[in-house]
Amino acid sequence: MGNIIIAIDGYSSCGKSTLAKALAKKLHFIYIDSGAMYRAVTLYFLRNHIDLTDEKAVAKALEDIHLSFHSRDYQSHITLNGEEVSEEIRQMPVSENVSAVSAIKAVRTDMVKQQQRLGRSKNIVMDGRDIGTKVFPDAQLKFFMTADPKIRAERRYNELITKGESITLEEVFENLAHRDYQDTTREESPLVRAEDAIILDNTNLTEEEQLQFAIEKVKALGWNSETA
Ligand code: C5P
Repeated sequence: MGNIIIAIDGYSSCGKSTLAKALAKKLHFIYIDSGAMYRAVTLYFLRNHIDLTDEKAVAKALEDIHLSFHSRDYQSHITLNGEEVSEEIRQMPVSENVSAVSAIKAVRTDMVKQQQRLGRSKNIVMDGRDIGTKVFPDAQLKFFMTADPKIRAERRYNELITKGESITLEEVFENLAHRDYQDTTREESPLVRAEDAIILDNTNLTEEEQLQFAIEKVKALGWNSETA
């Protein structure tokens, strides 16, 4: 068997990265957060005032952007042209603009190419919106995560408040609803469940229960989760 790919897609703030990280740790796989790549590109566009409708400016910016991942204790960190931006890309200015940036065809083509390269030779868990449909349609295992929008907003709100951001629950709820709308209705690879993706609704599940659910699916494929 070649390298193994586990694809996790789903709505915003569904806990995809939490599950993906836990699964990667358990299986000794590499975790890749594809959303962080779109966020880092967005940060660059914001800092450099790139006009999203200017194709040439977008193409030039993509040429000038160099992203790289490094992982410490299964926390994935991303650098943008050598600068660690893992914290900044989670803040609201990026969250408010990332869905518009990720709807641009040239941006997606570039990111998908880089993501496919990352998965060429290693066992990976990758989370995002189009991993099971577009980036790795042949992934051996696919999950599609969903949860009650109110619960999602509360989880994200608590996370942001803990980090010291000043924001209201309503603002977070609106941002998630807006991103879900943009992500599911865009022309280029919209968020949609791959036919062979296993649905995981975690509204009422703890992180441990979700991991157990995923590990059961791994075992059902005949892999040994300790040595895969
Ligand atoms: O996963 P996260 O919420 O950090 O992703 C941020 C945004 O990046 C999403 O709302 C979506 O617009 C975009 N994205 C995407 N395709 C992916 C991952 C993320 O379009 N594979």
